[in-house]
Amino acid sequence: MNASSSTSTTGLQFTHPYLAVVLGGGFTGMLAAAALSEHADVVIVERDRLPRTRALPTDLPQARHAHLLSADGARSVDELLPGVVEGWLAEGARLMPLPSGPAPQGWLPRRPAQCVIACSRDLLDRVVREQVPALEGIGVLDGTEAEELTGTAEHITGVRVRDTVTGRARRLDADLVVDATGRGSTTPGRLAALGLPAVREELADHGIVCATRIFRAPPGKENCPVLTDRSAPEDHQGPGRTATLVPIEDGRWLVTLTGAGADRPSEHADRFVSFARRIPHSAIGDLIADAEPLSEVRVSRDSASRLRHYARLRCWPTGFVALGGAVAAFTPDYGQGLSIAAHSALALRDALRRRGLDEPALARSVQQSLARIAQAPWTPATGQARPTAPTGQRPSAAGRFVRGAVNGVLGSAIGRSPVRRAYVDVMPSAPTARSTRPAVPVPVSATAAGRRKPAER
Ligand SMILES: Cc1cc2nc3c(=O)[nH]c(=O)nc-3n(C[C@H](O)[C@H](O)[C@H](O)COP(=O)(O)OP(=O)(O)OC[C@H]3O[C@@H](n4cnc5c(N)ncnc54)[C@H](O)[C@@H]3O)c2cc1C
Repeated sequence: MNASSSTSTTGLQFTHPYLAVVLGGGFTGMLAAAALSEHADVVIVERDRLPRTRALPTDLPQARHAHLLSADGARSVDELLPGVVEGWLAEGARLMPLPSGPAPQGWLPRRPAQCVIACSRDLLDRVVREQVPALEGIGVLDGTEAEELTGTAEHITGVRVRDTVTGRARRLDADLVVDATGRGSTTPGRLAALGLPAVREELADHGIVCATRIFRAPPGKENCPVLTDRSAPEDHQGPGRTATLVPIEDGRWLVTLTGAGADRPSEHADRFVSFARRIPHSAIGDLIADAEPLSEVRVSRDSASRLRHYARLRCWPTGFVALGGAVAAFTPDYGQGLSIAAHSALALRDALRRRGLDEPALARSVQQSLARIAQAPWTPATGQARPTAPTGQRPSAAGRFVRGAVNGVLGSAIGRSPVRRAYVDVMPSAPTARSTRPAVPVPVSATAAGRRKPAER
C-alpha cells in the first residue's frame, strides 16, 4: 500500500507517493529520516518529548558520557545533512586531533588527519534534531512509543504505537518501517511474534561502568585537547580503568571514567578525582582536582557490545529495515556508534536511489550492507575490550593494517571537507575562540516551522 492510495485521518497533504515510519528520533532515526525524505513522506515516532533543547536535554543514558564523532562519521552526516558540521562548530564544538596517549595497541600517533568532533552528545543531537524536522515531508510524533509491528513474516505493513501520556493506541500503516530505537531495540521479539526465526546475536559484555562529571574549565584551559588515559594491562585483570577529558561547548570539560568489577568508578562525587588519579601517569586526575564541578556524577552500566545478525536470517520481510544501534552497539571505549549510525543512513539512501522504495529486495539489500558496515569494526571493537599488547609496544601487523585503513579514510574525509578550514591543532598553545570557527557563515536551520502533522491512516 502506498500513501496515494490511502486515506489520511490527519488531513496530511502527501507530497510523495510513499510513507515511511521511522521508530526512534535519535541520531540514527533523524539521519534515516533525512535519507528517506528524498523518496517518501516520513513520520518519526519518538518515545520522548521533543524538541530537546539546552534547557531540556536528552535523557538517553549514554548521552551523559563522552561522545567523540570521528571525522569519517562527521563527513557522512554532512553528506546527508549538508551544513550540519558547520552547525556544530558554530555552537561551540571543535574539530580536534584524536586523543593522544597510550592505548592497548600502543601510542596513538597524532596527525592532522586524525580528527574528531568534540562537544557534548546533546549538542550533536540538538543540531541534527533542529535540521531534520524542518525538511520537506518530515513529521514528528513524539511522546509516542512503538509497540509492535503489523503485517506478516513476509511483509511489514506498519506499526502499533501508544501515546506515553494518554495511553491511546493507534496503528500507523507505512510502505517502509525503519527501526532506529537504539541498543534497547526489541525487534528480535517483534519479528519472532510474526513467526520469523530467532535472530542470532553476539554479545561482548565486560561489565564496563561509565561515570561522568562536567567541570568548568579553568581560565585559559578551555581549549585543551581531548585527553585519554588508560591503565596498563599488567595492572588489572579485566578491561582496566580509563579516563577521558573532552573540552565541550560553553567552556566546560566533560570527564568520563570507565572501569569494571572492583575497578569500576563510583557514583560518589568525592571518589571521582581519586579514581582518575589511580591510573598511573594520568594527567586527568590532576587537571580536574581543582576544577569546579558543574554536575553530579552520572553513572551508566549498559555498555555491552551487541551485534544482531539480521542479514543471516533466511527470510527477511519486505517493508522493514533496522539501522544503527538497533543492529550494532559498541563498548564506549571504541566510540564508533555514531559513525555506524551515519553509515547506516547513507546505505539506506544509496539503496533507495538505486532501487526505489517499492522494490521488494530493498529491505534485504539494506540489511546486507549494514551487516558489512557493522562487521568491520566489530572484531577490533570487541577485541579492544581485552587489551593484548602492553602499553607502548608496537602494534601487531593486523592492528597496523586496521589503523592504516582508518587513517586513510579520515585523511581523505578531512581533505574533502569544507570543515578543513576550521581544523586547529590545539596543542600546545590554545587557539583563540575565533580560530576555532569556520571562515564561512554557518546556515543552521533552527526552526521546525515546516513540521507537519504526523500521518495516521
Ligand atoms: C557510554 C557510551 C559512550 C559512547 N561513546 C561514543 C562515542 O564516543 N562515539 C560514538 O560514535 N559512539 C559512542 N557511543 C555509541 C552511541 O551512543 C550510539 O551508537 C548511538 O547513541 C546510537 O544511536 P541510535 O540513534 O541508533 O540510538 P539511540 O541514541 O539509543 O536513540 C534511540 C532513540 O529511540 C527512542 N526509542 C527507543 N525505544 C523506542 C520506542 N519503542 N518507540 C519510540 N522511540 C523509541 C529513544 O528515546 C531514542 O531517542 C557510546 C555509547 C555508550 C553507551
